[in-house]
Amino acid sequence: MTKHIFVTGGVVSSLGKGLTSASLGMLLEQRGLKVRMQKLDPYINVDPGTMSPYQHGEVYVLDDGSETDLDLGHYERFTNSPLTRDSNYTTGQIYQAVINKERQGDFLGKTVQVIPHITNEIKSIIKKIASDEVDVIITEIGGTVGDIESLPFLEAIRQFQQDVGAENCLYIHLTLVPYLKAASELKTKPTQHSVGQLRQIGIQPDVLICRTEKSISLEDREKISLFCNIPLEAVIEEKDKDFSIYEVPVSLRENGLDELVIRRLGLSLGELDLGAWHELLAQQRSPKHEVRIAVVGKYASHKDAYKSIYESLEHAGIQNLAQVQVSCIQSEDIERGGAEEVLAGHDGILVPGGFGERGMEGKIEAIRHARENHIPFFGICLGMQCATIEFARNVLGHVDAHSAEINGTTSYPVICLLDEQKNITAKGGTMRLGAQPCRLKPGTRAHESYQSDLVDERHRHRYEFNNEYREEFLQEGLSFSGTSPDGSLVEIIELKDHPWFLAVQFHPEFHSKPTNPHPLFGGFVSAAVANREKLSEV
Ligand code: GLN
Repeated sequence: MTKHIFVTGGVVSSLGKGLTSASLGMLLEQRGLKVRMQKLDPYINVDPGTMSPYQHGEVYVLDDGSETDLDLGHYERFTNSPLTRDSNYTTGQIYQAVINKERQGDFLGKTVQVIPHITNEIKSIIKKIASDEVDVIITEIGGTVGDIESLPFLEAIRQFQQDVGAENCLYIHLTLVPYLKAASELKTKPTQHSVGQLRQIGIQPDVLICRTEKSISLEDREKISLFCNIPLEAVIEEKDKDFSIYEVPVSLRENGLDELVIRRLGLSLGELDLGAWHELLAQQRSPKHEVRIAVVGKYASHKDAYKSIYESLEHAGIQNLAQVQVSCIQSEDIERGGAEEVLAGHDGILVPGGFGERGMEGKIEAIRHARENHIPFFGICLGMQCATIEFARNVLGHVDAHSAEINGTTSYPVICLLDEQKNITAKGGTMRLGAQPCRLKPGTRAHESYQSDLVDERHRHRYEFNNEYREEFLQEGLSFSGTSPDGSLVEIIELKDHPWFLAVQFHPEFHSKPTNPHPLFGGFVSAAVANREKLSEV
C-alpha cells in the first residue's frame, strides 16, 4: 500500500516547504523507495500560467505541457519522481471539476458542499497517483496554516488519515523559529501557535521541521516537544544554508529525518549512499574559476522570477569548477544607462523568456553589446526572439524590425504568431506548451553540445521566427542549428563568428539537474570562463 506524507507550513510563507519536501523525496529515493511528489495550491487560478512572475515567481512547465508551481522545479532537480498534470492542483481546478460534475448531474438531489464534495475531490486527486509501483507520495500543501483558503485542503488531509489508517499517513509541519536580536534568543512561541492551529483543525503533526537561522538548543527543542505534543526526536532543526541549497538534504539526513519517517511509516530502511551528492558539494565548495553572468530580464528584482535559470547556471558552474556570480539586471536600466555601462565587467550575458513590451529595447541592446563585443550570449525564448530582432535591425539594416507581439504594424515582422495560435483568444493553457522534438544540425555548436541529432525540450510561447526571412539571415552568417523535425519551426539559432552566441525558442532550464547539468548551460558557462580568462591575460 502506498504511504502518504503531507507537508504543511506555518508562521510565515517562503519557508522552503518545496525545497524541504524535495530534499526528503531525494533521501527516501536514495534509500531505495519509489517516491511521487505532488503540490496542492490553495489559490483560485486554474494554474499559475496566467499570473505575473511578481505574484508567483516563474511558471514551471512540465513535459506534458502543464504550467505549474515553481516548487515542482525543486522536485525535478532533487528527485526522479515523474511529474505530470496530476502533480499540481489548485483550488480553481478542484472547484472546476466539482462544478462540472454537478452540471452533469452526478450529485442529483444533493446540496453540493465544501465538505464532503470539495474534500472528496481533493482526496481523489491524492489517491490518483497512488499505485503498487509507488511506495511513498509526498503531498505538499501550499500556503500557510491559518489561511482561509487552505482550510478545505487541511480538512481533506485530516480525513485522509481516517480513510487509509494512521500507520499509512504522516504529517510533517514546517515552521519558523525566529531569532529575536533584542532578546538574543530564539523564540518558540510562533511554532507553538502554528501547531496549536493545526491541532484545532484536527491534525496532530508527527514531525516538526523548524527553520532557524541559529542552532536550536536541546532545551528549546524540549520545550517545543512538550508544548506541541511531538516526541523530541521528531523536532528537527533545519538551519539556514548560506552556501548552497544542495546542503539541505545532507543536513536533514544528519538530523535523522529520513530514518524517522521510514520507521514511522513501517517501511524498510535501505542503505543510504550520498557519495555523489557529497562530491557535488565538495566540487561546489572549491571552484577554480570565478565568472560573472548578467541575466537581463524584466523581473530581475524578483528572486524567483527566473528560478530555474539561476539554478541551471549554478549546475553549469559546478560542472565547470566555476563560481558563477549572477547579476540580475533590469533591462530598463540598460535603456536608461546604456549596455556598455550597465553590463561592464560581465563575462557572459543571458536574456531569459518573457512577455510584453516593457524592457524589450534594453534586452535588444544587451544582445547587440554581446554580439559586437564577442561576449558569450545565451538567449532563451523571448531572448531568442530579441536576438533575431537585433540581428535584423543592426546587421541586416531593417531598422523597423520587431516582433508582431509588440508591434503589429512593423514592416519587418521577424517574429510572428505561430499558425496554430492564429484563432486562439483564451489566455489560460493555450500557448505552444511542453516537450517538443528538435532536430539538430550536425557541425553546429548546438549539435556539439548535445552530442545528439534529436532532443526534446519544453516550450511555452505563442510566437516564432518568421520563415520568410530565413534565407536573408543565413546569408549574413546566422545559422539555424535546431528546427522542429519537419524543419518548419526555428528552435535554435547561433552565430558562427562569435565565441558563443546561441539562442533557443524553448526552455532548457527545465531540464537541468545538479547531478546532470544542461549541456547548453554547460557550454555557455564554459565560454564565459574562457572569456574571462582571455581578458585577464590582456
Ligand atoms: N512572448 C513570447 C511568445 O509568446 C516569448 C515567450 C517566452 O519567452 N516564454 O512567443
